[in-house]
Amino acid sequence: MATRGKIIKTETPEQLRLLRPMVVRRTELLLDRSKCCGCNVCRLVCPREAISVTVGQVTDGRMTAAPVVNIDESLCSLCGECAASCPVHAYEMTVDGKPEIPVIRFEAFPNLLRANRVNQAAASASTETGYIAACPTGSISATIERDEEGHVTAVSQVEVNRRTCISCTRCMEQGPAGAFTVTKPYQGRVYLDVSLCPEGCQACADVCPSKTIRYDGARVSVDERFCIHCGACEHICPAPGAIRNERRLIMHTPIESGAWAKALDKLVSYREVSAEYDRKGQVRRRRAVVKGLLREMVE
Ligand code: SF4
Ligand code: SF4
Repeated sequence: MATRGKIIKTETPEQLRLLRPMVVRRTELLLDRSKCCGCNVCRLVCPREAISVTVGQVTDGRMTAAPVVNIDESLCSLCGECAASCPVHAYEMTVDGKPEIPVIRFEAFPNLLRANRVNQAAASASTETGYIAACPTGSISATIERDEEGHVTAVSQVEVNRRTCISCTRCMEQGPAGAFTVTKPYQGRVYLDVSLCPEGCQACADVCPSKTIRYDGARVSVDERFCIHCGACEHICPAPGAIRNERRLIMHTPIESGAWAKALDKLVSYREVSAEYDRKGQVRRRRAVVKGLLREMVE
């Protein structure tokens, strides 16, 4: 077949799909554009520089067109570094129909630690359910019982969809005490200088996937607790320097690979790459802890 071994690309405004239909290995990469926030993490880590991002459009201070990611199929090797790093789960990868990210499978890239553990006893101890609607990705479900007047009388079977949860920690902060324990993979600081914001601009709030940025009718503000350090705000901001994301740490499973060192260098500072090598001495001790976390992620 003429297409065997080559990557076939199909795209619509909603999704982009790359497929390599080998006889023994059928690899597929799917980008869900409705989840993509244009953060550029995939573009930064791609070792083939196959990814480009068109900046979202801002008109009169509002985002009028979302950022658009494109992948050049002639450059892409379907390694999966984009899928492994995406902070918002916009990518999905399968091999022969089963979820698999080759670069993780072949131990060239780590798993990001994105656990969200639910303590059912703590979650059921409260009838306050506002945190379910507050989840920015609609990732929380629960069985809710109500009386005849519609008041909540019992909450049970609280679950988090780990394929959509972006680890913003809002449920941990605003849900019942002790109900959620979230590990945030990207950590750092976000700096906002409202003196540089054009009047009435709220483009960063429009693009922010974790609803960390709010606009109160006069100016934007950031609640850093919920920031996932994607950087989408910085990319759409029409006033350079008004908002800045600084990634300082990435929580991940132990790894020793050049591919990861390069990706880390682009995503965080050189200081962090050095610190990563310093930590290698502690890797074995951490491994037991991480194994436990991973077990909980797949359960
Ligand atoms: S961490 Fe954020 S995205 Fe994940 S379930 Fe909690 S509120 Fe939703
Ligand atoms: S405030 Fe944080 S989560 Fe929101 S777009 Fe900026 S970096 Fe991303």
